This record gives sequence, C-alpha cells and structure tokens, in this order.
Amino acid sequence: MIALVINSPRGTADIYGDDIKYRNFVINTVRELFEVFNFEEIITPAFEHTGVFSRSIGESTDIVQKEMYTFPDRKGRSLTLRPEGTASIVRAVVEKKMLISENIPLKLFYIGNMFRYERPQKGRMREFWQIGVEALGSDDPMLDAEIIWMLNKIFDQLGFKNLKLLINSIGCSRCRDNFIIRFKDFIQPEIAGLCGDCKNRYQKNPLRIFDCKVPGCKAIAVRSPKITEFLCDSCIVHFGKVKEALSDLSLDYKVSDDLVRGFDYYTGTIFEMVSSDLESAQNALGGGGRYDRLLMEFNGPDKPAIGFAIGLDRTIMLMKDLGIKYITSKSKTKAYIISIADTGSSYILSILKELRDGGIICDIDYLGASIGAGIKRAGKKGFNIAVIIGDDEINNNTITIKDLKSFKQYNINKDKLLEKISEITGAVKND
Ligand code: AMP
Repeated sequence: MIALVINSPRGTADIYGDDIKYRNFVINTVRELFEVFNFEEIITPAFEHTGVFSRSIGESTDIVQKEMYTFPDRKGRSLTLRPEGTASIVRAVVEKKMLISENIPLKLFYIGNMFRYERPQKGRMREFWQIGVEALGSDDPMLDAEIIWMLNKIFDQLGFKNLKLLINSIGCSRCRDNFIIRFKDFIQPEIAGLCGDCKNRYQKNPLRIFDCKVPGCKAIAVRSPKITEFLCDSCIVHFGKVKEALSDLSLDYKVSDDLVRGFDYYTGTIFEMVSSDLESAQNALGGGGRYDRLLMEFNGPDKPAIGFAIGLDRTIMLMKDLGIKYITSKSKTKAYIISIADTGSSYILSILKELRDGGIICDIDYLGASIGAGIKRAGKKGFNIAVIIGDDEINNNTITIKDLKSFKQYNINKDKLLEKISEITGAVKND
C-alpha cells in the first residue's frame, strides 16, 4: 500500500500543547469578563447562505471579492464559511426575533473559527479564531464606551502593557455621502495611479480604497481629506460623548482619523486595539464599531448596534513573542501512579478511583519499566506527587508516596492516602 502523506491545508493550524494552555487562559479570562459585563454566549453555524456576508460586509470589500470560501452545496445553493461573526449574529437575532424591548441592549458574545482566503503569513491565517461581542438595540454613547472599555480590559487582564487604543468616527450615511462626493473629487485626478481593484472601487464603493494594501494606493489615500471633517452635528455630538465617557473611565485612547476599517456596515464610532510589536500590515489585535443600519438591512427592526472582534490566534502569538505567560489559576495537586507490581491492577484501580473521586488530577504511568524512570516522567509532566505501588505495597495494603518537590518519601496505610496527600500539599480537592 502506498503511504498516505497529507499535510494540513495552507493557512490552518493544529492547536495543541502549550498553545492549548494559552488558549484556555485567554478564553477563561474573557468568559469571566463577559459575565462581569453581563454578556451571554451565542453559537451560530460555521457556514451561512452567501448573501448573509456579501450583502452586509459589502460587495466591493476585499473579503467578499477575494477571500470568501464559497461553494455550492449538493443542491446547488451557494454557501460560505463565515469570514467574520457579526453578520451571522445579526441574521440570527433577526431570524429568532431576539431583540425585544425587555432585553435591550441585547448583549451577546461568541467564540468561533473564521475563514478567509488570505495570503498566510505571521499573524494572518486562512482559518483563525475570533472572540467577539455584539450589543444590539441602543445608540447610547455610553454603550460605545462600555464596549471599548471591555476590549481594553481584556488585554489588560491578559497582561499586555503597551497596546494602543485607536478610535474614530466615520459618521452616518449623510456624513458619508457628503464625504464621498469630496473624496471622488480628490481621487479623480489620481485615478491613473490606482491599482485595478481600486479603479473598480472608485466606481462602485470609493471608501474601500482606504483598505487597499498596495503602496501606491495607500500613498494616495493618506493625502485624502478625512471623513471626520464631514461629520454632521449629531455625529459630532455622539462622538464627543463617547470620548468624554472614555475619559471618565480613565482610558488612554488616541483619535486616529486614518482609521476606517474594511467592512461596509460600520457607521459612527469605530475602534481598534493595535500593537507596535506586530507588523504594520496586521498590527490589530482586535477592533470593531457601530453598525446602526445592519439589523434593518437584514429586514430586522430599525435599531442600532455595536460590537468588536479579537483575533485569538494573533493575541496568543503576541503573548508568546512578548513573554507574557498564561496563568493557571491555582496550584493543583497532581498525582502520578507508578507501578512495577507483577499483578495488582484492581489495587491500582482502587487507588486511581479514590484519588479521582477526591478531585485529584491523576494519571497512571503505562510505560512501567522502572520506578526511577516513572518518577522522572512524572516530574517532566508536571505532577507533584508520585504514588508508587510495588508487590510489597499490595501485600501489606500500603502505598508509597513521594513528594516530588521535597523528594521526601512516605510509606502509609492505603486508607490514609488522601489524608497524607492533603498534609503534603495543603489541599485535597482541586476546586
Ligand atoms: P476583522 O474582523 O477583520 O476586524 O478582524 C478582527 C481581528 O481578527 C483582527 O484584529 C485580528 O486579530 C483577527 N484576524 C482577522 N483576520 C485574521 C487572519 N486572517 N488571521 C488571523 N487573525 C485574523
């Protein structure tokens, strides 16, 4: 038979070992915070009807034009692996009629894998994980501040120190329409210098020229007038209140009028958490903004909303690069059973059962060649107690316990097992 050699697809990751520990630390930290901020979890499908994304994210965005994993199912319906979370959640909220007056703002969070056909590089993958939140139903600027505060707090809590919080307002559709007229005037004499995609964008959706990564287009975009100069009075007042509330919360932020973000659905406040320790093309750990018209575009109620998404993989990558360790909440008692007895599996099983029933993390050394090798393995695997069982122990109804910290050894009666471990470690249960 020919050996099967199959590698994982480009841009995907197998997550295991230390990465799982980082991942659990990040997820546990955010889950605790979401509870404190009173958000509830939602899980939506990993694929949707293509229109859910193409209409909301925008036909002329990079994501929709080049990056979606879109395929016909067996009945020829066009489906797409989700490239982001917001559109699916809005679809679900409208479809399941979740937005009723008693629960406004409806506060939801999700943790899920996303798929974008991008050129893989450090911090940019084709399958990646996002942690996101959506607060639907209110346009109160204090809600904007709460959401931005939560984004900031997540990274604080994870142990990041030098991140930058950027905020901006891209106004409502009125501000945007005025800006687009002016922006098109500005771009018109520069059209020849734009890439093919941007020439197209100029016709269909000029704002997306700001997302282009082609240096020539970027150079033109930075000289452009800023959308912030075109905000209407009510958008100026709203943004002013957001900034005031952020200051009340003592958050350190920077207003960046270059910030636009690459989805069509954003309105008003937008924000990003960036790190100068990441390459500039993907220096954002997370970001979000208001999307006050999206519910309506899904035939839902005319209600505003705001949310953000954090890249889980990118966050972990930066934690590792910066030497930020995950914290395991409590020092746990972990016992490793090493046996070189010829017989005695029922004796071993009774000990294993007693330890696990007592809430002690416990495993058996199945390699069983020698006690010395077993103890070494226990240390390497992070166990702090070795439970040694030989023929003598079985015959005398005893157990030998070795404290792998002090290397002191005790031979005790079998029924004193939990008591002795408790004495050594100062706790019986890992709770
Ligand atoms: P976006 O949905 O594009 O606003 O992205 C939100 C966050 O998701 C970014 O700040 C990144 O941390 C993460 N992210 C987006 N695209 C990718 C990708 N291709 N690979 C890894 N992380 C990503």
